[in-house]
Amino acid sequence: MPDRSPQIRLLRVAVPVPLPRLFDYLAPTDGVEGEIGSRVKVPFGARELVGVVVDVPTVADVDMATVKPALEILDESALFAGELLGSLRWLGRYTHAPLGEIFATALPGPLRRGEPLPATHDWAWRLTAAGHAGLADMRAGRPRVLAERLQDGAVNEAHLDPDGVEAASSGTGAWRAAARTLAQRGLAERIAVAPLQTASAPRPGPQLNDEQQVAVDAVLAARDHFAPFLLNGVTGSGKTEVYLHAIADCLARGKQALVLVPEIGLTPQLLARFRARLGVAVHALHSGLSDGERARTWAACLRGEARVVVGTRSAVFLPLPDAGLLVIDEEHDGSFKQLDGIRYHARDFALVRARALDVPIVLGSATPSLESLHNAVSGRYTHLRLTRRAGNARPPAVRVLDVRKRPLQAGLSPELLDAVAAALAANGQVLVFKNRRGYAPVLLCHDCGWSAQCRQCDAAMTVHAGGRRLQCHHCGARRPTPNACPDCGGLALQSQGAGTERIEELLRERFPDVPVLRIDRGTTSRRDALETHLANFGDTRGILVGTQMLAKGHDLPSLTLVAVVGIDEGLFSADFRAPEKLAQLLIQVAGRAGRADRAGQVVLQTHHPEHPLLESLLNGGYGAFAAIELEQREAAVFPPFAHLAMFRAEAKQVELADAFLLVVRRALEGADRALRAGAPALELSGPLPAPMPRRAGYLRSQLLLSATARGRLHRVLQEALPVVRASPEARKVRWSLDVDPVDLY
Ligand code: ADP
Ligand code: ZN
Ligand code: ZN
Repeated sequence: MPDRSPQIRLLRVAVPVPLPRLFDYLAPTDGVEGEIGSRVKVPFGARELVGVVVDVPTVADVDMATVKPALEILDESALFAGELLGSLRWLGRYTHAPLGEIFATALPGPLRRGEPLPATHDWAWRLTAAGHAGLADMRAGRPRVLAERLQDGAVNEAHLDPDGVEAASSGTGAWRAAARTLAQRGLAERIAVAPLQTASAPRPGPQLNDEQQVAVDAVLAARDHFAPFLLNGVTGSGKTEVYLHAIADCLARGKQALVLVPEIGLTPQLLARFRARLGVAVHALHSGLSDGERARTWAACLRGEARVVVGTRSAVFLPLPDAGLLVIDEEHDGSFKQLDGIRYHARDFALVRARALDVPIVLGSATPSLESLHNAVSGRYTHLRLTRRAGNARPPAVRVLDVRKRPLQAGLSPELLDAVAAALAANGQVLVFKNRRGYAPVLLCHDCGWSAQCRQCDAAMTVHAGGRRLQCHHCGARRPTPNACPDCGGLALQSQGAGTERIEELLRERFPDVPVLRIDRGTTSRRDALETHLANFGDTRGILVGTQMLAKGHDLPSLTLVAVVGIDEGLFSADFRAPEKLAQLLIQVAGRAGRADRAGQVVLQTHHPEHPLLESLLNGGYGAFAAIELEQREAAVFPPFAHLAMFRAEAKQVELADAFLLVVRRALEGADRALRAGAPALELSGPLPAPMPRRAGYLRSQLLLSATARGRLHRVLQEALPVVRASPEARKVRWSLDVDPVDLY
């Protein structure tokens, strides 16, 4: 009989299941005492799950008849402590998601699965005795380059990464393959070494200009408390220099800095720049890392070993026991919003964390989101502006090409092709931007009007592979292009419109003497492929064709002409955020021209040269556009002047999705009425078919909530969700709630 009564200890655990409640367990009697914020392995039905201790209730609060013993405490001290625990609890309330799922989202895979916090030593490579002996006889090639680098002693992998072997050969991570080759031949081995603290002496940056100095001074003056800044500066105006100064100050005070960047902004170039300038190890966290690497970065942050982390969206969950500064670069970027699972926005959550950590946060962008701009204009954020390009770079000249009635080839006008020819003749590099991959967006029968549609989605199939294949960009379905029209048997099937593939084909024909490189998800699905392609392409004369993958990231210093085509559709989208997204994309792409000392040119081809969006953007820049757009949002009571939430439901039958959303609607109306002091606070629209009513065989409906007071929206959701979750209709559909939806589909 275990001696229970005096030592009985209970744990309240957040378990990763889609149930909005916590579960109580008896603490294991041997081993570690479960602290709040530690992981614990618990029995759950027939399974064993890894949860997090969030409370230590007393016997009086717990139904002792049903409580089961927990299996094992997994952490000696809390993984989620202090600020992070509190901020994640906040996120749970804000997204109305179960706390257990929030913790699971915040953890890298191995920690989520219950593996121990990994060791955080570094890895290095050194030659074996055989390696030293055999070096002289090695054939030329990457393995030999690496072996030569190792002949004076072990070299930390971090030092192999940005320079060294890579510069000597080509391509990201090239040394890894070389190292593997050496290891297989017994010539080199991987060894554990103490983590790098100082990588090198910090390299000084350029002298800050007045505007940069003002910005740095403002951030440093606020360094002891929460202070949000919007650093609004055109591409190349030196925002990154401002971050680097603020981070250097943060390091000098012994604090940690976290920098969030968009998915494709985290380039080896950027990391190398940070490492060189700061002189410390800079940890990266992105989707291209292995699970193990992610867990190690997590551990290094928790232990305070990682002083600077540059990461994509999920890096917002890193523990920062010594935080001094948060930076969100390209804060407007769509990749900061998670579109499934826990639908959090990394920028917004970073603001919550900065407040809880009581540190400054800098949101940087050339094209701030209207939300952030509104906060800056209304004084909630300090608005810092960088109006000039740093150094000598001049802003690009923009020319609008009116293509009405002009003959188009693959969607390109003769004037645009002339501009390309002229730029190439002047030894420049050209970027042709078209935000549509594939060969052509539609396959049409010229005889009867049939067009190729996906069988699973309400969407046209895109023509790929030079016309040989049809592919759906929504569900991934593929099939060969038919030889004859399935409806009328006619042979007049035509590819309509142009995607990047077709443009590439035309440009190769027209400019056979220069390299043409296409960059889109078709050519560049692997994470580092983009870097490798662009590095190989180099600074020579040539043409890049691509989608928004080319809108940022990798520096293209030789680019002298940016040609933008196919934006007209975006001018007339029903989504209220479409103008903002289009304006941001246009400014971003245009900003790529002429970054170095060469003047840049932008040509924008459109059928709607007088469209107000283009006019305001061209005449007044993003600021003028944004001011007008904010007025329209206010008049229409859209964000940031209203707060939205979206219920989405999908099922094999549309009736089921709609029936569920009707339950939701009634529950919301009931809660709103119960809370009402005066008029109803909530505006509901739906159930309505989603903009793409059928996708991958599922029928999709949605219900949009809008309220002018955020608090009210959350109180209503809080009241209504238990009713929604308990309803039998909920079990017949796949549904989700998205607070602050970005895409209204
Ligand atoms: P952003 O982050 O706004 O795009 P960067 O900080 O990357 O701008 O700066 C763009 C380029 O200008 C970089 O090559 C950078 O080294 C250079 N630069 C930045 N600030 C200055 C300055 N004050 N004087 C000279 N060059 C600068
Ligand atoms: Zn036909
Ligand atoms: Zn499809």
